[in-house]
Amino acid sequence: MARYKEPAPIKDHLNPLDSMMERFSEAAQKLGLDESMYNALKSPEKTVAVSLPVTMDDGKIHVFEGYRVVHSANLGPSKGGIRYSMSVTLDEVKALAAWMTWKCAVVGIPYGGAKGGIKCEPRNMSAGELERLTRAYTCAMADVFGPEKDIPAPDMGTNQQTMAWIMDEYSKIKGVSSPAVVTGKPLVLGGSLGRIEATGRGVMVSARSAMGKLKMNPSKVSAAVQGFGNVGSISAKLLEQQGVKIVAISDISGGYYNPKGIDIEEAINYTTTNKGTLEGFEKADKISNEELLELDVEVLVPAAMEDQITVKNADRIKAKLIVEGANGPTASNADQILNDKGIMIIPDILANAGGVTVSYFEWVQNRLGYFWTEERVNRRADRIMKQAFESVYEASIKYNVNMRIAAYIVAIDKVAKTMELRGTF
Ligand code: NAD
Repeated sequence: MARYKEPAPIKDHLNPLDSMMERFSEAAQKLGLDESMYNALKSPEKTVAVSLPVTMDDGKIHVFEGYRVVHSANLGPSKGGIRYSMSVTLDEVKALAAWMTWKCAVVGIPYGGAKGGIKCEPRNMSAGELERLTRAYTCAMADVFGPEKDIPAPDMGTNQQTMAWIMDEYSKIKGVSSPAVVTGKPLVLGGSLGRIEATGRGVMVSARSAMGKLKMNPSKVSAAVQGFGNVGSISAKLLEQQGVKIVAISDISGGYYNPKGIDIEEAINYTTTNKGTLEGFEKADKISNEELLELDVEVLVPAAMEDQITVKNADRIKAKLIVEGANGPTASNADQILNDKGIMIIPDILANAGGVTVSYFEWVQNRLGYFWTEERVNRRADRIMKQAFESVYEASIKYNVNMRIAAYIVAIDKVAKTMELRGTF
């Protein structure tokens, strides 16, 4: 028997592609997008599926499924992370790729959208197995990737080390040093200062902008954050620095609730010495991830994964502001219920766009061969995030729609205009 045991695929999972398409269709209708353009924008430009035989540590070969979907390369080279998770399916990757197109368009950076994924459980794999899998995937995608074509980045289950392997393998295959082929690299390999914190920072900046519109005073509000990885932990830390009381945090091990507030720095330190998890964190009461979402807080930041707020629990959400750190945390079937409750949602394609914005800065710096200070990175990223928030807010008033549909409207309008100008066959 092979040592690597693949866990059972995650079932009972709503389809994020359906959620993406429903919002896309609604926004296209409000925008009055013509049918032929609608059809052109709904289908991904390129879908690549590969089987990756990898020798595991016990000498046995395991075959992994890998995908890369380029949804659109209209605004520029396609950009999007690579996810290592058992929940990866082609439909999930297609949805995430389209979200990248809309996200880059909302913040006005010159990229199209793509996403990649490998169905695997990285926590059950050794560093050697992960490296061989990553190199096999890069080799299979060598003609898809490219600094002027398609630029991957980290996502769930991948990190700076994964990006370093991709950069190295791609550079070897092409015979040139090519740091700009991926972003989210370690600093010594051409990464950007501020990239690790960028997504969480953008979540904080969006939350601040929204609080301003809702006349909420940050030092008088409490928040719950679901997910305590890159996005969740940094969002929590930076919101706390703004005076927000973080009363609940969570990860795959469950939720942790303390009505007096959780010291986020302490929780982060705890996870770094506890194999990256909050398991056993004693400064708060244990609750479930489902309970966390329904807490009586002003601000909720889902920063773990898709479909956490659905028709099943939307009615019980008490927050007045939801800032989507994760991609697709709200299923489309929950939108109407949350709308009717008057909850303001800062959608994923706006709220978590700080990451891709600083990825763009990393790519710019790689091509310049000149590196910026962290202060410059943060200042420019904050400005882009604030401008994007305002343009979406204005569209929500102009079209009389919620912030999610407004963000799609801003994005679809931009991509459609570009496509029209560039023309088709
Ligand atoms: P990560 O792997 O660093 O962290 C994910 C966190 O979610 C971990 O704490 C994990 O334990 C937790 N988690 C996983 N399953 C869970 C569940 N069922 N319930 C509760 N918690 C669970 O990933 P990340 O980079 O922080 O990404 C989180 C989300 O943000 C994803 O949807 C990702 O696509 C999105 N995102 C990430 C970035 C980025 O720059 N990292 C940018 C934009 C969007």
